Amino acid sequence: MTNMGELDKIYDLIVVGAGTGGTTAARFAAKNGLSVCLVERKPREKVGNKICGDAVGTEIFDFLHINPPVNEELSCHIKGAKVYSPNLKKCINLLDPKQAGYIVNRIEFGQRLLNEALDHGVDTFLDSTIALNLIYNKKNVSGIKVRLANGEKKELSAKLIVDASGFYTPLRKTINSPIIEKEIPKEDSILCYREIVSFPQKDQKVQDPEYITIILDKERAPGGYIWYFPRNEQSFNIGLGVFMNYKGKVKNFYQKNVFNEFVTTPNYKILSSGGGVVPVRRPLWSCADNGIMFVGDAACQVNPLHGGGIDPSMRGGFYAADVAQKAIETDDYSINTLWSYNVFVMTTFGAEFASLDLLRRVLQVLDNSELDFGLGQDLLTGNEILEISSTGNLNLSLFDMTIKAFKGISNPQLLLDLNYLRIRMKEISTLYKKFPSDINDFQKWQHNVIQVYDKVEKMLIKSKK
Ligand SMILES: Cc1cc2nc3c(=O)[nH]c(=O)nc-3n(C[C@H](O)[C@H](O)[C@H](O)COP(=O)(O)OP(=O)(O)OC[C@H]3O[C@@H](n4cnc5c(N)ncnc54)[C@H](O)[C@@H]3O)c2cc1C
Repeated sequence: MTNMGELDKIYDLIVVGAGTGGTTAARFAAKNGLSVCLVERKPREKVGNKICGDAVGTEIFDFLHINPPVNEELSCHIKGAKVYSPNLKKCINLLDPKQAGYIVNRIEFGQRLLNEALDHGVDTFLDSTIALNLIYNKKNVSGIKVRLANGEKKELSAKLIVDASGFYTPLRKTINSPIIEKEIPKEDSILCYREIVSFPQKDQKVQDPEYITIILDKERAPGGYIWYFPRNEQSFNIGLGVFMNYKGKVKNFYQKNVFNEFVTTPNYKILSSGGGVVPVRRPLWSCADNGIMFVGDAACQVNPLHGGGIDPSMRGGFYAADVAQKAIETDDYSINTLWSYNVFVMTTFGAEFASLDLLRRVLQVLDNSELDFGLGQDLLTGNEILEISSTGNLNLSLFDMTIKAFKGISNPQLLLDLNYLRIRMKEISTLYKKFPSDINDFQKWQHNVIQVYDKVEKMLIKSKK
C-alpha cells in the first residue's frame, strides 16, 4: 500500500511503464542506489500481459547477468530460425548460438522482471496509474502528471524521468524538444496480429518444435512476415505483420493466410488473441533531452528486420539506469550529461538497427518473384543473413560478389541493388559507430545519416521505374 505522503517527495528517477524496458531501468537504477518510482497503467497482476511473439534470445540474460527463463516462465527452448521464401521452395536454416533462445510465457516473464525490480529496492510502485503528461521546470523535464488508481490527478516530481511506456507513449508526443521526434511516420511501423492456439496433441502436431518459422511473402503478409512459433507440444503462437495501411484488414489477412493454413484440427482453443504495433526503424534521432530518457518501443529501439524488441528494450533500460546514476552523482540532469545515453545506444545496437532499417526498406519493396529468386539462388545465404542480423553488416569479398554475379545473371538489377545496399549499410553503420560524443557535432552527423537514407530512397525509386 503506497503512503500518499511519500508521493510528494522528489524522486531521483521516475520510470513510466513496467514492461521489459521499464522494469530493467527501474531494477538497475534501484540497484545503483537511486530512489525510484515506477508507474504502470495496468494493475499489478496484469504486468507482462503483452501481445507478443514471445521469442527472446539468450544473449540479453548473459549481458545483464540475470537468470534466463525457467519453469513456468519458459514455454520452450529454441535452437534457431527457419526462413522460407514465398513459394516455400527455399528454407534457410539460421542456426548459430546467437539465434538460440526461448519462447517465454509473457505474463510470467513480466511478473518476474517486475518482482526482481521491486526486490532491488524500487521505492514506490504505482500500478493502475496512468502517466498523462510531462511537467517542466524552465527547459528541464521535472516530473509527470498522473491519474492515480483512485482517479485522483497528482503531480510527481523527479530529477529524471525514463519513459518506457511503449509505442503509444503519451509523453513523447508532447515533448518540447528540437532533437526528439514526436510522431513516428506510419511507414516506419508494422501492424501485427497474433493468436496463441492450443489443441490436443493427438489431433495436430507442432512442426519443427525447436525452431521459430518465418515466411516472407509480399502478398500474404505485405510489408512484414508470417510467423509460426512453437510453445509446447500442444500449442503455438502464430501471427503476421503488415504495413500500417492495412489497418482494418489485418485480422482477415491473419484468418486467411495464417490461421487457416496452420490450424488443421477443429478441436482447437484460442488462448489469447490480439494486435499491436511495432516500430521497425532506426532509434529516435535522440533518445534523451533535458531531464528525460526514452527506452524500448517509446524510443524505437526494436530490430527493424524481425521486430524483436524485448532484448533492446532491456539493453536500453540498463544503459539509461547507468547514465541516470552518473547524472545523480554530478547533479546535472541536462542533455549534456544524458547525451552519453545516446552514445551508448547509437554505437551499439543503434548502429545495427540503422543498417537493418535500410535492408528492411529494400526487402519491403521486393515482390514475391524477386524474393523467390534472391533466396532460391542464394544471393543471400543463411550465413550472410546471420552476419547481417547480428552485426548489421555484410562483408563480401570480390570473389563472393563474382559468384553472386553469375547466380544473379538473369536478374542483374537485383544484384546491383543488393550490392549498392550492402555499401550503404556499411556506411550508415560506420556513421552510427562514430556517433558524436559532443552534442555540438550532432547536426552534422544527422545530415550525413540523412544523405545515406536519401541515396537508398533514390535507388528504390530508380529500380521500381
Ligand atoms: C504482435 C507482436 C509480436 C511481437 N513479438 C516479439 C517477439 O517475439 N520477440 C521480441 O523480442 N519482441 C516482439 N515484439 C516487440 C516487443 O513486444 C516490444 O518491442 C517490447 O515489449 C518493448 O518493451 P517496452 O518495455 O518498450 O514496451 P511495452 O512492453 O509495450 O511496455 C510498456 C508498458 O508501459 C505501460 N504504459 C503504457 N502507457 C502508459 C501510461 N500512460 N502510463 C503508465 N504506464 C503506461 C504499458 O501498460 C506497458 O506495461 C512483438 C510486438 C508485437 C506487437
